[in-house]
Amino acid sequence: MNFFAYRDGTLRAEEVPLPQIAAAHGTPCYIYSRAALEDAFAAYQRALAGRDALVCYAVKANSNLAILNLFARLGAGFDVLSGGELARVIAAGGDPAKVIFSGVGKSEADLRQAIEAGVHCLNVESPAELDRVNAVAGMLGKRAPISLRVNPDVDPKTHPYISTGLRSNKFGVAYDEALPLYRRARDLPNLDITGIACHIGSQLLDPAPAAEAAAKVALLADALAAEGISLKHMDLGGGKGIRYRDEDAPDAAAYLAPLLAALDGRREKLVFEPGRSLVGNAGVLLTRIEYLKHGEEKNFAIVDAAMNDLLRPALYDAWHDIRPVRQRAVDEDIYEVVGPVCESGDFLGHARSLAVEAGDLLAIMSAGAYGMVMSSNYNTRPRAAEVVVDGNQVRLVRERERIEQLFAGERVLP
Ligand SMILES: *Cc1c(COP(=O)(O)O)cnc(C)c1O
Repeated sequence: MNFFAYRDGTLRAEEVPLPQIAAAHGTPCYIYSRAALEDAFAAYQRALAGRDALVCYAVKANSNLAILNLFARLGAGFDVLSGGELARVIAAGGDPAKVIFSGVGKSEADLRQAIEAGVHCLNVESPAELDRVNAVAGMLGKRAPISLRVNPDVDPKTHPYISTGLRSNKFGVAYDEALPLYRRARDLPNLDITGIACHIGSQLLDPAPAAEAAAKVALLADALAAEGISLKHMDLGGGKGIRYRDEDAPDAAAYLAPLLAALDGRREKLVFEPGRSLVGNAGVLLTRIEYLKHGEEKNFAIVDAAMNDLLRPALYDAWHDIRPVRQRAVDEDIYEVVGPVCESGDFLGHARSLAVEAGDLLAIMSAGAYGMVMSSNYNTRPRAAEVVVDGNQVRLVRERERIEQLFAGERVLP
C-alpha cells in the first residue's frame, strides 16, 4: 500500500496534501503516516501468527513518543540501547517487562535503571559486561535476566557501516566463546540466563544470512541444553531491509519465512527487533527550495533541510527518493539537492532530475528511520517539527525547536 501518493498533481500523506502541513507547521518537517506504521507492524504480526513471538521495536530507528506509544498499543515490546531510550519507552506507556536492553557499552547507571525497571532481558556483549551486570544486580539485591549476544560470523552483505555480525566488528561475543561464557554466567549468583541473541546487520535484502545466523544460534541453544542450561527465548535481532530506490526488499512474511523454517519445532519464544522496516517507509522529510542556483557544471537546488536534519546521505551515501510535492509543467533539470550547512558533504541527493521552481516543496522519501533520531544542531539549526497524519488529521508530535532552547544550558565565563 502507498501511504504517500499524488492526487490531482499534489503529493499527500494519507488524505492530507503536504502543502497544508507546510503551511501549518513550517519546513523542514518530518511527516509520518499512522496507517503506514500500523500496516508495517501488522505485517510482522501476521507473519508470526501461531508462533510464540514478541516483536520488540528497535527504538533507535525513531524514538518519538507518539510512535513508541502507537507500537505499545499494538502490543509491541521494545529494543533499547540506552537508559535514555528506556526512559522514553516508559514515558510512552511501553511495558518494561517487554524491553530488551542491547548495546556494547552499557554504563552502570544504564544497568541499574534497566534492572530496577524490570526489563525482559539484558543482552550482554562481553565478559566484562557480564561481571558488571552481576555486580549491579547484586547491589540491588536482584537477579538480572540475561542473554549473550553472539556473533554468528555470517556476512549480511550490506553496507560495512551497518554490518554487525562479522568477527571483525565490535558487537557481540565470538561464537566459539559463547559456550564457555554461558558456563561462567551460570556460576554467577545474580544472573538468570533466559536467552540468546544475535543481530547481524541492517538493511538486509536477502534473508539467507539471517536464517543462517538463526540456525547457528539454534545449534548453540542445543549445546547449552545438553549442559542443563535451557533457554526461554531466542532473539534474532532486526535488520530487514526496505525499498529506498529500486531494491527488491522482501516483505515481512518473505523475510521471516526462512528464519522460521530454520527454527521450526523449537519451543523457545522468538524475539525480533525490527527498526527500519517498521518506520522507514512510513515517514518523509518535507523541505522547501530556498534557491535554485544554475552553475556552469552543476545546478543546485538549495533547500531548507540539511545534513543536520537527515544525515544518512552524508553518512552512508544513502539514496532517498526526492519528489516535488506539486507536479509542474516546467522543464526538468538535473540538480544537486543540498542544504544550507557549510559542508560539502551536506547533500540530500545527487544529480536528481526535477521539474521545480524556487519556493517549491520537496518530499525526501523513506525518511522515517534513522532520520530525526540522528539529527543534530550543527550550525545552530533548530531541529525539525514532527507530525503524524491519521486519515485527514494532522497531529504535531514534536514541536520545532526554538533557537533559545539551543543555548539555554550554556554559560559565559565570569
Ligand atoms: C539497530 C538494531 C536493531 C534494528 O535494526 P534495523 O536494521 O533497523 O531493523 C535491532 N537490534 C539491535 C541490537 C540493533 O542494534
